[in-house]
Amino acid sequence: MSDVELVLRSTRVITPEGTRPASVAVADGTITAVLPYDAPVPGGARLEDLGDDVLLPGLVDTHVHVNDPGRTEWEGFWTATRAAAAGGITTLVDMPLNSVPPTTTVDHLRTKQQVAADKAHVDVGFWGGALPDNVKDLRPLHEAGVFGFKAFLSPSGVDEFPHLDQEQLARSLAEIAAFDGLLIVHAEDPHHLDAAPQQGGPKYADFLASRPRHAEDSAIAHLVDQARRLDARVHVLHLSSSDALPLLAAARADGVRVTAETCPHYLTLTAEEVPDGASEFKCCPPIREAANQDLLWQALADGTIDCVVTDHSPSTADLKTDDFATAWGGISGLQLSLPAVWTEARRRGHGLEDVVRWMSTRTAALVGLDGRKGAIAPGHDADFAVLAPDETFTVDPAALQHRNRVTAYAGRTLYGVVRSTWLRGRRIVADGAFTEPKGRLLTRSH
Ligand SMILES: [Zn+2]
Repeated sequence: MSDVELVLRSTRVITPEGTRPASVAVADGTITAVLPYDAPVPGGARLEDLGDDVLLPGLVDTHVHVNDPGRTEWEGFWTATRAAAAGGITTLVDMPLNSVPPTTTVDHLRTKQQVAADKAHVDVGFWGGALPDNVKDLRPLHEAGVFGFKAFLSPSGVDEFPHLDQEQLARSLAEIAAFDGLLIVHAEDPHHLDAAPQQGGPKYADFLASRPRHAEDSAIAHLVDQARRLDARVHVLHLSSSDALPLLAAARADGVRVTAETCPHYLTLTAEEVPDGASEFKCCPPIREAANQDLLWQALADGTIDCVVTDHSPSTADLKTDDFATAWGGISGLQLSLPAVWTEARRRGHGLEDVVRWMSTRTAALVGLDGRKGAIAPGHDADFAVLAPDETFTVDPAALQHRNRVTAYAGRTLYGVVRSTWLRGRRIVADGAFTEPKGRLLTRSH
């Protein structure tokens, strides 16, 4: 075993056993021990005394649209991973669509890995995509190391990533279940969307009515039925409808292997406060009413919702028109997800330990990286965020590292300043200054 090179000391270290004063020893980029606060620093090791700033495991964001290559004017690996680092995220998993090519064959995966390799400021993994015509590519992609497969049950918004009808879903899911892979699903039922009033225009209420809760509920019910029938592992992406929660809870109680995530914007923004024409708030499924949001928080607290991920899905500013029907649907939140969620969590009486569980521990587990990411514990990568949780800042779009500085959070005052972020024992950003990119490309390990 190598000698300890670095000790990070804080009065508040978030460990799997709780928050306590501790000294965290690091050798070769790995945590070797979590020691008492005043443990002697080994000879030759550097001490980094963080005072009362909180040391937490780097966040693991399993839902990010990097769009590189192909739509790099929307985002790219350089800018997305810098934004992630600035926000305390040390691992992200890239969605298979909005890049060209999409990650739907092993060749396409290789192309994306090549593009990401020397631009990644944080560790990067990849989801594959399940399309109507690529069932034969799923097993090779699984073996090449994607963490699972994304499918849409309604139109995705880009032509090169068509959605699955019910028969195609059954076929893809049967193939994925055959190697015990994971299917992650954008669950909105296209028939319910078609039947909803499609007004268009700048009124947020009209947009909300065009993506009703029952479109989500129906798609999730169908997905759960398929998962039950095939004993397959499925994950509901960006859950917005609180009406689907009883169904999810019941399925899990029955032993169906279904997990669910929600996003910072569903937890911190409400339909009532979205100004008409403000399509920086447009995403699908949509931000819903305050009463719906209360139930999402309850579901996080009781474990019906497993985790919180950004669904960072930017575009250029010109695509964010004031017509909600045609504006690009996607919210940029990568750099702000930790303070946004923490601000609302603390208001509702949750601790930072809860936020770490939702945004790091459980997301790492979702992609099988637990054991390596998502906890300050011996044997884990020395990935950390250092947070001043009681300090506030006002969101200034100009301070964002996202390629396009369009944000639904502009002007909000948030709790939680990320002082620095560490990847495998190296400080990769501190006070807005970045090192050269040293992120690694991750593949599924079990
Ligand atoms: Zn997404």
